[in-house]
Parts: sequence; C-alpha cells; structure tokens
Amino acid sequence: VASSPEDAVLAAVERRRDELVELAAELVRVPSTLGQEEPAQRIVEQYLGAAGFDVVRVTPDADAALADEDAGYPPFPYDGRSSVVGTLGDGRRLHLSGHVDVVPVEEPERWTREPWSGAVADGRLWGRGAGDMKAGLAAYLVAAAALAEVLDRPGLVVSSVIEEECGGNGMWSVLRTGQTADATLIGEPTGFQLGHSGIGVVWARLDATGEGGHAMGAAREDAFDRLARGVAALRRLEAELNEPVDGWPYGLNVGEIRGGVWPSSMPARMLAHVRLGFGPELAPSDVQRLIRERVREAAPDLGVEFEGFRARAYTHAHDGPIGTALRSAHRSLLGKEAEPAAFTATTDARFVDGDCLCYGPTAGNLHGGDEWVDLESVRQAAVVVALAAARFLQPIL
Ligand SMILES: [Zn+2]
Repeated sequence: VASSPEDAVLAAVERRRDELVELAAELVRVPSTLGQEEPAQRIVEQYLGAAGFDVVRVTPDADAALADEDAGYPPFPYDGRSSVVGTLGDGRRLHLSGHVDVVPVEEPERWTREPWSGAVADGRLWGRGAGDMKAGLAAYLVAAAALAEVLDRPGLVVSSVIEEECGGNGMWSVLRTGQTADATLIGEPTGFQLGHSGIGVVWARLDATGEGGHAMGAAREDAFDRLARGVAALRRLEAELNEPVDGWPYGLNVGEIRGGVWPSSMPARMLAHVRLGFGPELAPSDVQRLIRERVREAAPDLGVEFEGFRARAYTHAHDGPIGTALRSAHRSLLGKEAEPAAFTATTDARFVDGDCLCYGPTAGNLHGGDEWVDLESVRQAAVVVALAAARFLQPIL
C-alpha cells in the first residue's frame, strides 16, 4: 500500500510512452538553433499548459547580462526569444530543466539521415538535438506531466531554456526572476551518470584586419598569419593550463573561421572563433586577461573580443537529498548504481545555487553528424526522474 503513489507515478509515465517518443521527435523536427528557438518553445509551452502548469515566458535582459560577469554575452537582441517556465504547487520544490537550443549542422550531406528528420530507427531517435538535448527535455516534460497527474499539486518548476549552447543567458535569466527550488535536475544526455561538475569555458574572437587588394602585392605576413600566430599562442596557454592536471580536460577548440574570398586577393579580414576550457582556480576574467596577453605578445595587431561564454568551473554535491533520491530511484528501476561524473564542458548547472545534477539518457555524436539518442534510455530516464522527484517531493511515500 505504501508504494502505491510511486506505482501510480510510474504507471502514469508508462502510459505516456508513445507520447514521449512523439514529443522528442516533434522537437527534433523543429530546428531550434540560436535565434530560432521559438517554434520549439511553443511546443513546450503547449505541453506544460495541457499538463496543468502555470506557464510564463522569461526574456533575458541584455544590458543586465552584459553587466554581470557571470552571465553570457548576449549574441543579439532578445526580441521574440524567451525561455518557457511552468510552475505548479508549493512546499518543497524541484526544478526540472532542459535547453531547447541546438548547435548548427555542418556538412549535412555527410549525415546518413536528414539532420532535422527526427527519424526513429534501430531503437534510436536521430537528428540534431536528439541527444543534446531534446530527448532529455521531453523525458523531463513527460515526468512532470505524470507527477502533476498523480500527486496533489507537487512543487515543480519546469523550464525549457534558450542559449545553453551560447553563454547560458536562458537559465541565468530564469533564475534571476526569483525562481527558486530546493534542488534542480537538468536532462543532459549523461548516460545515467550524475553529472555534478563542469569546467570553466570562455569564448574569444580573434579578428585580423588585412590590406585587401591584389595578391601581386602580397607580403610574407598577412591576416591569416597573424591569426595563426594568435592561435599558436593560445595552444601554448592551453598546454600550460593542462600541465598540472591529469589528462587534458581544458581544451582549446578553434570552432569557426571566416574570411577571404579569393586565392589571388589578400583578405581584408579574417576571424577565428575559439573556445578555451580552464579549471576552478581561475575566474573567466582571469582567463580573458591571459588570452589578451598571450595574443598581444604573439600578434600585436590581432584583435581580441569576447563573446558567448564566460563560465566559471562549478561543482555540486551529488550526495545531497536530490542525489540520494536519484540514486535510489535509479537503483530501484534499473538495478544498478548511478555513478558521479565530472564534465570537460559546462552546463547551465553553474548558475544554480542549491544542489543541481545533470541526469539523462544515452546519446551519441553530440554536436556532430548522425546525432542520436537511445529511445529505451529516454523512457528509463523519464521513469527514474519521475520516481526520484516523487521521493524528493513527498519523502513520506
Ligand atoms: Zn546540452
């Protein structure tokens, strides 16, 4: 008898099994890259409203974000772009969160399936964002709907945020509205690990101005060479940051380069957009200063600007009340122990004051071609999170 509310929650998730796959696939079919989040957000808003949540939108304040060194740099104005927040009940509160934005597709012709197909095949959902992290978001939405159906107005906050992939101002602004919870879970595709920490990340833009004009006047060094010397200096900084630690957690990635139009024309401008990881002993502003210094020494005329991330490294407890509830639910339903994991990337968990863990399905090729998520793991993530939430919110069960 004592277990019947838990059984009812699990049954309510199982009843939504098909709905879960459809919701995840529907979200994948909407290309919600940076600036294009709204059609996906409408799907989330409608789902939460139908499940009985009070739903509001939260638009980041660009000026406040710019002024806060723990926020991201706004990529462009926030007109018509917002996070979705659903709330229900009171008392002890659990925040279930996911990001709706996805990274762009590169070389779509190299994908086996069309990137926005949301195809279901071989037990997997395929497409950009299937793993990172629309299936996790769908699992959390379905868990929330099941909890809302079975429990008596459970204390839930459910958010679908923008810009997790670009600075984090979606989550930052949701928390800034005063939205508080006793614990937070984020449905990143952790393969059932308890993701409790992340490294620091900053983005920088190296900007080389060139002469322009016919290559008959080309000198030995031009915009590209300055860019290359700047990147080489940052590679040396990367090596220094990783030297004292095991492995190579703090990666430099040259993710995007632009510039030039013709082999026989000197480029008027060349740009490199880079990402550098770092550890907890440095603040983002320290790393920005190091980047500026190293680039100035190596290539004095190369411009440096910062954009996107200025994220601190973070660590959350994984053995607090929500970690304990998640572990026990994971053990009950999957018969295994959920292990803690440290990420060599950042997540929105860095903005959360209380305990915050990432926990979600098994996925592959994140940010790459042929991205996928395992559908059985999506269903399992939904039931584990629903059971953990029930145990966390109503510990007397
Ligand atoms: Zn993600």
